[in-house]
Amino acid sequence: MAKQNDELMEKLVSLCKRRGFIFPSSEIYGGLASIYDYGPLGAELKKNIKNFWWRWMVQKHANIVGLDSAILMSPRIWEASGHVDSFTDPLVDCKKCKQRFRADLLENESVCPNCGGELTQPRQFNLMFKTFMGPVEDTSHIVYLRPETAQGIYVNYLNVLNSSRLKIPFGIAQIGKAFRNEITTENFIFRTREFEQMEMQFFVQPESDQEWFESWKADRMAYYHKLNIHPEKLRFHEHGSNELAHYAKAAYDIEYEFPFGWKELEGVHNRTDFDLRRHQDSSGKDLTYFDDATRERFIPYIIETSAGVDRTLLTVLVDAFEEQELEKDTRTVLHLAPSIAPIKAGIFPLVKKDGMPEIAEKIYRLLSPIYPVYMDVSGAVGRRYRRQDEIGTPYCITVDSETLENETVTIRDRDTMEQNRMKIDDLSIFFFDKTQS
Ligand code: ATP
Repeated sequence: MAKQNDELMEKLVSLCKRRGFIFPSSEIYGGLASIYDYGPLGAELKKNIKNFWWRWMVQKHANIVGLDSAILMSPRIWEASGHVDSFTDPLVDCKKCKQRFRADLLENESVCPNCGGELTQPRQFNLMFKTFMGPVEDTSHIVYLRPETAQGIYVNYLNVLNSSRLKIPFGIAQIGKAFRNEITTENFIFRTREFEQMEMQFFVQPESDQEWFESWKADRMAYYHKLNIHPEKLRFHEHGSNELAHYAKAAYDIEYEFPFGWKELEGVHNRTDFDLRRHQDSSGKDLTYFDDATRERFIPYIIETSAGVDRTLLTVLVDAFEEQELEKDTRTVLHLAPSIAPIKAGIFPLVKKDGMPEIAEKIYRLLSPIYPVYMDVSGAVGRRYRRQDEIGTPYCITVDSETLENETVTIRDRDTMEQNRMKIDDLSIFFFDKTQS
């Protein structure tokens, strides 16, 4: 089983490279450990995942607004938040082979999983990347690359509140890069040192924290179902007291069953008033909220939902990947939800004559301003279908001799491989219906 799972990951990594989803970064210079670049299809898929999340969290909730804060922030933020002191992982070294590990991820904390050698005692290693602001490289000029997007939201909470008509409960959502100098990186893009997060911080009245926590847990699970992820491969994992982060009162991970085991996909946390209280104490600014209805003043509690863009992308690829044994060959197919598929339709003239390429071109011009579509004029049509199946294109439109007579085309469904005829005039509404999330 383990071997099969390794093979599946190998096939996926190879597909990602071959078809232009994901490349190792700096490859012509030998690569840079666990940093990846997204190729044409990967960039499209990533953008679609972010849009899907933004629509779900921001557009569909009248009381959630967006933010785009800077990566570099005052270092005082990371002192107040506890990251300078506590954003650490326990690091152990193998005395024999010199490899390094994160002690809390090892099954046996005293034996090297690589060579069986003795391990050192764990020491705490801070995961924040440091750099210097301005020309002087001394400790007073240190700034950090943010290890999470959340703090940018907390320190803008007053700005957002004062510039909008929001009332508690309300949320602020943000998508952006985060950086962590991870001790061990693993499993392709599962754990990398540069990645993107999609975080939403929901500000609530302190007594209603549990209710909102439960509500967001349910909402976030529903989101993954809507993304077409197999429900039996998703579960909640509750953090025990030894796992809870320094800021959290309660935390659940939404986990996915990857080929390498059940792993965290997203965290839902009750961060209490920890962050705003710490920033209030540290900055000296009043961060309390006055509730007109109850005439009470309080520091809001925060329920956080924190997901990784790259980890979601890996999840949808793993979950969508299938090799189907057909009568004559094996079909590789990605069953991606149409709303996130990089290309929505392949457009094929059956043959390169009789005016078919011109009609295909017309369909391309009709759809391409709104939907990414791909025109393919060469090779057997079966092979053209397979090329699109492999990258998750949900539909293929074929112009054939009947098109010349009645302005209809065939539209083939990636998953069922069934073909139906449709009027060219109905294509726009068809794609609108199918690709909305
Ligand atoms: P872990 O314990 O696995 O290191 P974490 O609990 O520290 O992860 P969070 O701080 O809760 O992770 O981060 C929220 C989300 O951000 C994660 O669920 C994941 O999707 C994403 N994420 C965190 N670290 C990484 C990473 N190094 N690479 C890719 N995605 C990450």
